[in-house]
Amino acid sequence: MKRNPTIFLKEEYENLVDLNLEWIIRALESGSKPHAVVDGREVLMLNTNNYLGLATHPKVVQATIDAAKKYGAGAGAVPVIAGTYDLTRIFQEKFAEFKGVEASLLCQTGFAVNQGLIPTLIGEEDYVISDELNHGSIIDGIRLTRAKRLVYPHTDVGGLENSLKEADDAGARRILVITDGVFSMDGDIAPLPDIVKACESYGAMVFVDDCHGEGVLGAGRGIVAHFNLQHKVHVEGGSMSKGFGVFGGTIAGSNDLILFATNKSRSYLLSTAHPPPTVAACIAAVEVASTEPEHNKKLWDNTNYFKKHVQNLGYNTGNSQTPIIPLIVGDPGKAQNLAKLLFKEESIFTTPIVFPMVAKELSRIRVQMNALLENKDLDYAIDALEKIGKYLEII
Ligand SMILES: *Cc1c(COP(=O)(O)O)cnc(C)c1O
Repeated sequence: MKRNPTIFLKEEYENLVDLNLEWIIRALESGSKPHAVVDGREVLMLNTNNYLGLATHPKVVQATIDAAKKYGAGAGAVPVIAGTYDLTRIFQEKFAEFKGVEASLLCQTGFAVNQGLIPTLIGEEDYVISDELNHGSIIDGIRLTRAKRLVYPHTDVGGLENSLKEADDAGARRILVITDGVFSMDGDIAPLPDIVKACESYGAMVFVDDCHGEGVLGAGRGIVAHFNLQHKVHVEGGSMSKGFGVFGGTIAGSNDLILFATNKSRSYLLSTAHPPPTVAACIAAVEVASTEPEHNKKLWDNTNYFKKHVQNLGYNTGNSQTPIIPLIVGDPGKAQNLAKLLFKEESIFTTPIVFPMVAKELSRIRVQMNALLENKDLDYAIDALEKIGKYLEII
């Protein structure tokens, strides 16, 4: 048989287009912040993960420039060979101190943390237990293990306890329980104190991926600090790319964990280290987050104000407990139209979230709050949501 080796590329893409599931990618022509320029247009951006506005903070930008002049653009090697700089050491110490743990490791990305670390923590004789709504990078990390897999209903600690018992009864050598800290589609948070308690009685390892919690919860220190669970959560995975506004992944925890990860995580061992200017920016971002608490406070003030007003308009914000505020409209076409009209008519940039990211009947747009939003921006967005929401008969 003579095959057409690449026909599937076009066919599968066109299939996505037919289903309205292809990504329409817009291009930023400014920093990622509320007042942004997108595809040549000034917009109000309500979908950046740069929660605190640190991506364009003068101290963070200056640190990047200074380090570029001193060290140049690229790292030149993977971290363990010759890609660790004095800056990397300074970052890791400062970050551990900020988080209130013994040690930390700067990894390539949050995605890479899950890819590299999860498969080293568990093997064939072990069990991994995962929340059903965990991030795709956790799911992929779990796919790389040979451990047996159990999934519990979203944030259901009773379900988790059943899985812990099942793994224990089966004679698991190790049990790893893994959850997002903040769930990125719903903005709800993991019931961490109860998860830790359930795990303690079985000696299960607790891994929290706090990519959307860092910079946001616990005065910026993340969900573990928020619940005062340092030393009880064994592994914290995180990202410097969201609340801290820069780029990179982090692992935080005990000295034992960091030495283990440094020597075993394959994404850490085999992928080039951060450009030094980026590391310098990460240091500056942590310094700003520690010394300028006003950004975190403004983020939460904005979150509370906006959420209250859109709820009063009749929008369903689900179980949002964070600056991630889903506006759940149900029908996927309506969610896409809401985002489209907000962009076209009101110059407001939001993200439609439809199947397969969420169940079809839970289609939504996702709005994210930001410390750089001013009250007049929020009022403008609320008015626009009222106008378009009524027009589309959502509210
Ligand atoms: C964004 C995110 C990641 C990926 O982090 P990056 O640093 O962007 O690679 C991993 N896990 C969760 C829960 C996330 O929200």
